[in-house]
Amino acid sequence: MAHPRKQFGQHWLRSEKALHSIVKAADLQEGDRVLEIGPGTGALTEFLLQTPASVTAIEIDRDLCPKLVARFGKNERFLLLQGDILEMDLGAFLPPASYPNKVVANIPYNITGPILDRVLGTIAQPTNPPFNSLVLLVQKEVAQRITAKPGSRIYGALSVHCQYLAECDWICDVVAKSFFPPPKVDSAVVRLRPRPYPDPAEQPQWFSTLVRLGFQSRRKMLRNNFKSIVEPDRLTVILEEIDVNPQARAEELGVADWVALSRRLTPAAAS
Ligand code: SAH
Repeated sequence: MAHPRKQFGQHWLRSEKALHSIVKAADLQEGDRVLEIGPGTGALTEFLLQTPASVTAIEIDRDLCPKLVARFGKNERFLLLQGDILEMDLGAFLPPASYPNKVVANIPYNITGPILDRVLGTIAQPTNPPFNSLVLLVQKEVAQRITAKPGSRIYGALSVHCQYLAECDWICDVVAKSFFPPPKVDSAVVRLRPRPYPDPAEQPQWFSTLVRLGFQSRRKMLRNNFKSIVEPDRLTVILEEIDVNPQARAEELGVADWVALSRRLTPAAAS
């Protein structure tokens, strides 16, 4: 087996149970086209190819590519591209009809944020065209943040960002010893299903800026956090109008509350 490289965040998943859960969560049907980020030695690829879906895999490590080709190259539903997911223009390799509609990946943890920006996008610029679903094996703490509900200690800007852009579900825990070598932290599988937010913000960039600012000092009341952009008394009125406790901290506002706040507290009203 290939010796795992730290620089590429390589941890081979060895739990059949976890592999099954990942593939099941992706609900792969005839016609589905999966983008797999970082196939590594192919543990997940093998399971993906047992479904009717086709798989385009992008692997950065050149040394792994010949092995992947030897293992799966004969399968006409498999395509391997060597390169960096953060740099690659998939459209340059694939005609629109075979562009992936789902992402399934055990991703390198050191680039989780940039990968999310790539496959989910930002509030101001969601990935276009959107993927149908993203099933990702991530660090447990990131999974908790992605799926956190308002009021919880771990609910933050990432939670609002992901939940604004997608339905986010916790799929399962994956303990560190399910990998070789085991990473320092436990992991979990999450599923994000991008969709337009039902009651979208009119100014997504402003909405995103507000959320970030609100969570900058999460222990502070919003009244104090937003002092630089709005008079605390004025914010009290706005919060009451949108049915939010004027003493609230950022972590108490659900996604819909943030959207409502971004409407009342417009950049013009703020200045
Ligand atoms: N899917 C495999 C390997 C997961 S480890 C398994 O579950 O066992 C993460 C994989 O992502 C490694 O194979 C690593 O080489 C690859 N990788 C790391 N950075 C990458 C990047 N920027 N683009 C594409 N692949 C990357």
